[in-house]
Amino acid sequence: MLAKRAGQIDSSGIRKVFDLAQKLENPINLSIGQPDFDLPAELKEEAKKWIDAGFSKYTVTQGTQELRDKIREKYREHRIEFEEVMITCGVSGGLVLAAMVLFEEGDEVLIPDPYFVMYKHLVRLMGATPVYVDTYPDFRLTVERLEGRFNRRTKALLLNSPSNPTGVSLTEDEQKKIAEFARHRDLLVIFDEIYESFNYDFPHANIARFYPKTLILHGFSKSHAMTGWRLGFAAGPKLIVNEMIKIQQYSFVCAPSIAQKMGLAALDMAPDERIADYRRKRDIVYEGLKEKFNVVKPNGAFYVFPEAPGGDGEEFVRRAIENNVLIIPGNVFSEKNTHFRISFAAEDDVLRKGIEVLNSLVQ
Ligand code: PMP
Repeated sequence: MLAKRAGQIDSSGIRKVFDLAQKLENPINLSIGQPDFDLPAELKEEAKKWIDAGFSKYTVTQGTQELRDKIREKYREHRIEFEEVMITCGVSGGLVLAAMVLFEEGDEVLIPDPYFVMYKHLVRLMGATPVYVDTYPDFRLTVERLEGRFNRRTKALLLNSPSNPTGVSLTEDEQKKIAEFARHRDLLVIFDEIYESFNYDFPHANIARFYPKTLILHGFSKSHAMTGWRLGFAAGPKLIVNEMIKIQQYSFVCAPSIAQKMGLAALDMAPDERIADYRRKRDIVYEGLKEKFNVVKPNGAFYVFPEAPGGDGEEFVRRAIENNVLIIPGNVFSEKNTHFRISFAAEDDVLRKGIEVLNSLVQ
């Protein structure tokens, strides 16, 4: 009964973790992929205002002109120009549309490994082939690592900085080198910068500044703790974005109208002070783990990706869950099963308790 494409996706990794987790009563939860703070008060007010004003109808498919203009203006402040921008239902919506208009059977898509879970499955859903670029052990994408993975079937590079699940951010210099690599091969770069606001060590860099053949995907889920409002955008070459708008018209139709008004207000807000707290959380987790674990210090996002003692991520996660700590095995985000992901989007005392348990599991 089912289409073949449904069989292209396997969600057993994550499901196993959640099945185990269901048995826990009050777990120390270090698995959450969203900020632990609430929607800012200004945005709650904004939402209420527009609900009362009856702003509940469809908007135009590409998103309101005012929000699209404001996004363009914001990028201009960072000296980034793009041809076209559309509003999407979260970055996920942008990823789905981009994959639909770009990937098909016979195409190869470069995905630095470890990767955000959706990438691999979306590429496969379209019948294309994910080609993994191994970035272990430091998780930094270099030209050396890309070379040899590129061939004439390569359609695009899916880049994510700061990264989920490693927390590694690529510096401007590193991105310039990747841009050079892409330019010589006329390679499309899809740049997912959803964790832009969460950078602790150096300013966020965006490859689109050096390389116009970039499709930027970004959104408000993480920066403004509005994951449930489903708001994101895609900006880049007109040829691609226009096709994405066409497919949005026959699928998502438009991003939620109230969320689009909230996005406008969000772009006027200074970065939430609670994001600054995440640097402290990063330090608590990194300092707490580095003695006993092989761990790369994250530069951004809210994840750490340590090596599992003994080298078996699933086995270590099973033991952690037995001890009431919820973490995610690395093979959910990687072709390897050697690491595990911790999210530090949690209260400081939860983090400290979790670290204590994880350390106690190492001989
Ligand atoms: N990209 C990355 C790297 C993510 O971590 C996430 C959320 N976990 C998304 C995209 C999707 O976010 P949303 O659809 O809420 O914008």
